Amino acid sequence: MLRFYNTLSRQKEEFKPLNPKYVTMYSCGPTVYSYAHIGNLRTYIFMDLIRRTLKLSGYKIKGVMNITDVGHLMADSDDGEDKMAVAAKKQNKTPWEIAEYYSKIFFEDLQKLNIGRPEIIAKATEHIDDMIKYVQNLESHGFSYETSDGIYFDIAKFPNYGCLSRANLDDQLAGARVEVNDEKRHPADFALWKKADPLHIMQWQSPWGMGYPGWHIECSAMSQKYLGKTFDIHSGGVDHIPIHHENEIAQNEAITGEKSVNYWIHGEFMLVDNGKMSKSLGNTYTIAQLEEKGYSPLDFRFFCLNTHYRKKLNFTFDGLDAAKVSRERLMQALALHKASSAPTNPDTIAKYKQDFHAAIEDDINIPLALGLLFTAIKEPKSKDIYELALYFDKALGLSLDKLPAPKEETIDVPEEVMALVEKRKQAKKDRDFDLADQIRAEITALGYNVLDTREGVKVTPIK
Ligand code: AMP
Ligand code: ZN
Repeated sequence: MLRFYNTLSRQKEEFKPLNPKYVTMYSCGPTVYSYAHIGNLRTYIFMDLIRRTLKLSGYKIKGVMNITDVGHLMADSDDGEDKMAVAAKKQNKTPWEIAEYYSKIFFEDLQKLNIGRPEIIAKATEHIDDMIKYVQNLESHGFSYETSDGIYFDIAKFPNYGCLSRANLDDQLAGARVEVNDEKRHPADFALWKKADPLHIMQWQSPWGMGYPGWHIECSAMSQKYLGKTFDIHSGGVDHIPIHHENEIAQNEAITGEKSVNYWIHGEFMLVDNGKMSKSLGNTYTIAQLEEKGYSPLDFRFFCLNTHYRKKLNFTFDGLDAAKVSRERLMQALALHKASSAPTNPDTIAKYKQDFHAAIEDDINIPLALGLLFTAIKEPKSKDIYELALYFDKALGLSLDKLPAPKEETIDVPEEVMALVEKRKQAKKDRDFDLADQIRAEITALGYNVLDTREGVKVTPIK
């Protein structure tokens, strides 16, 4: 039974899609004004793990991810300039060039990290008409008001505001910063549409003059367009719970009066050296930077897979080094399993599969699932274990089929045995074959075989 932790109810719930075979899912995508950093990418790996878990549980998916190429202001509330415009000015390019460049790198990063591409990728700038219609719809239902700089959502008209974050509006009011926009009726009212001054680069014709959409309306307009008024899953990072996703709910449900998303699933943040990741601290690494330092993108994916998605994950290079070593060991062990023709008891394999499904279906417990893989590779060498790993890989996405050439297995031979091996070598050199045979018998008694080969003496445990 597949269960997800739903932010709405703050508990694990059995997953029951609206359509038993077909899951509808929306994931907040990137704002393409810069390279995605490893924190952002943790969130997309998390999205991918949800998708893989669904698929392995037998579902098909209609997934939508947006590309924000307009409207995301410097603060998630409505302060500051548009992130795209700021980047464009800085780099002396148009916002469209900026969006194209960073989108391309983003999709390359996804590919390097084995993150499956959602079925529908929706660019904000290609859905301006849908957003305008959405704002008009909210307007006609009486949920908005106009100020000198835009159209705002009137949260007082939506009593359920705060249902996701469980924030009390009065608390928000008390804690709010000094309000810059005194035309807003409530500090938490948010822009649906912004009026643009003539110098603003990205602007479109609208019933309210030239302007551009608010960031939150983008996700509502596109999710409702492709997935309908109620869909199954919405994913994103935990930072979006209090503003962005709360606003999406308000916009969606104000009009329909119905629950818009059944399961809100949020991924925890990545920290760097136990602190916030930020450009000014110079600790926002990109995948390209990790590659320059000699790591594979899959080392980073493996690093992420070791921590449950609802736990904070502290990034350190020591941690990434450990992940790299661990992944290499895994691949080596699998190469040896692949090379073996011995079978494993089918009941053993079936039990591993059953436990694996139980792990991933319990709120995507990938660390537990990964632990099972590490237990399985300790089984006697067998092609069946390799095949089992490939099955696990449908959920893990670690390219376990791209194995290195198998190296000789390194065995830790006890010092006592090694000392006897050396003694035997000397006895043979001295042509004292009786002594050599006697030492061999001692080694055998300790549980090891000695084999004289052209490459030298080989010591292997007796199985
Ligand atoms: P943005 O491009 O800023 O909209 O962010 C893209 C995604 O990355 C969002 O889903 C955020 O929740 C997520 N995100 C941002 N910072 C981090 C972080 N440090 N750790 C994990 N996810 C993050
Ligand atoms: Zn969104």
